[in-house]
Amino acid sequence: MIWERFQKETLLMKKTLFPLLAVLLATAVNSAAVAQNGLPFQWPHGARAAVSLAYDDALDSQLDVAIPALDRAGLKGSFYLQLSNPAVDRRLAEWRAAARNGHELGNHSLLHQCSRRAPGHDWVQPQRDLDTTTVAQMRDQVMLANTMLYAIDGKRERTYTVPCGDTLAAGQDYLPAIAPSFVAIKVGGAAVTPSMATLNPYAVGVYAPEGLSGQQLIALVRQAAEQGTMVNFTFHGVGGDYLTTSSAAHEELLQYLAANRQLYWTDTFLNIMTYVKTQRGNH
Ligand SMILES: [Zn+2]
Repeated sequence: MIWERFQKETLLMKKTLFPLLAVLLATAVNSAAVAQNGLPFQWPHGARAAVSLAYDDALDSQLDVAIPALDRAGLKGSFYLQLSNPAVDRRLAEWRAAARNGHELGNHSLLHQCSRRAPGHDWVQPQRDLDTTTVAQMRDQVMLANTMLYAIDGKRERTYTVPCGDTLAAGQDYLPAIAPSFVAIKVGGAAVTPSMATLNPYAVGVYAPEGLSGQQLIALVRQAAEQGTMVNFTFHGVGGDYLTTSSAAHEELLQYLAANRQLYWTDTFLNIMTYVKTQRGNH
């Protein structure tokens, strides 16, 4: 009787438990595969965050202060040239040398159109008002800027930083018209990328610091490391010009990054975003 019951129960186990185990096993295998695809985002060489040091508008203080500081620290930055700025013409040989030395020359448009009606934008010249420039005009000019950059540094891969973060050309978003010509595009937003998984490479947030201390800049880098993401700085003047970061604060940030290379991957925005897109499998 007991034996019979044992046999019945064993049969019951075989009928119910084994299929259940099989289902559980299959689920485990399946979730292992999902986990492999959806692994937490990994930076190269175990770095905890990527750091993009970018500089907009082709300002003299970038050639005079920022680039020598980057070179001393052995770090590479991204310089977004507004091609119509006379300073580009005046110091073309130095920009070309910076590119040869591994710094990125990025596209910051030909004429730096921004919305004139946006608050605090009285400085925008009427002929450079994004509110009265069409998407087609912006596309033509941004493409011409790419050609000019190619003439300067001989490179074909490019990233773009949206002037003033203003994206509406005569009321229409112009970024879809230029996106196919770029590896990535930066617009305004937060310094620290919230998530690598959901990051849109054509709407990467950047922060333009003004008057921050070295410690305040470093705090943002540490925040990116805590989140395992990236931090995008868009500097303007360094130790001069406008929207200025002091050369001391800039130097303190660079020294911190140079001393902690195993934690922070500091590179050009182009290199970082090329890696991000390869890692995520979207190009
Ligand atoms: Zn700008």
